[in-house]
Amino acid sequence: MEFNTTRAINDNYSLLVSAAEVDVRALAGQLTSMGFECKRCGECCRSHQADNSVIVFPDEVFRIMDANDLGWYDVCKPSAPQFIDTIHTLHSFEWELKRHSNGSCTFIHDDNVCRIYFWRPWICRTYPFYLHFENSPSPLLNVSECEGVGSGVLCEEDAGNLALLLKERLISEIREEIHVLEHLDGLETWELFNSSIHGNIAQFRIAVHDSRGCS
Ligand code: SF4
Repeated sequence: MEFNTTRAINDNYSLLVSAAEVDVRALAGQLTSMGFECKRCGECCRSHQADNSVIVFPDEVFRIMDANDLGWYDVCKPSAPQFIDTIHTLHSFEWELKRHSNGSCTFIHDDNVCRIYFWRPWICRTYPFYLHFENSPSPLLNVSECEGVGSGVLCEEDAGNLALLLKERLISEIREEIHVLEHLDGLETWELFNSSIHGNIAQFRIAVHDSRGCS
């Protein structure tokens, strides 16, 4: 079925309404009954995780840049492109934190301390939890691989703060997607990019679309 931008925007507005209705207290209760304690193992920041890419929004990138005197491309890079257009430009819809060639985040120190801890993105603040719509009218709590899950007691205050962050993160993700879609022009004419058909990514220009437009 052909991609329809207007329909996608409307669908996201519906998701936004559901996200705004997330009951933070009930979510905090779920987190408390699950239990969690960060073991400071640094595994989530390193290459050992199957997919440890950290998607970042422009606001998050600017916050990290400003506080640490870094440039845009010191902080992030385009995530894998998904589409190719008729003039052979690839299109990506997200930025992700830069990683070393071994896959580890460039901000993790040898002692597992995050260099940008106070400015770290939503994903890092809420890991290993996230809210996701799985063909359900309301978002469900999901958990990524982490040895800290179930291993400690989350006090009421910490669970409440985490639940609030999860809700805010979901709302920000949906808002970002709406803004990206609103700035898009021509997506209906693009093809899905497949390197085995189209060739190596390195030979193409990449356009990244975010809430600010296209760069
Ligand atoms: S920004 Fe910090 S917390 Fe997030 S992946 Fe990198 S080192 Fe880990």
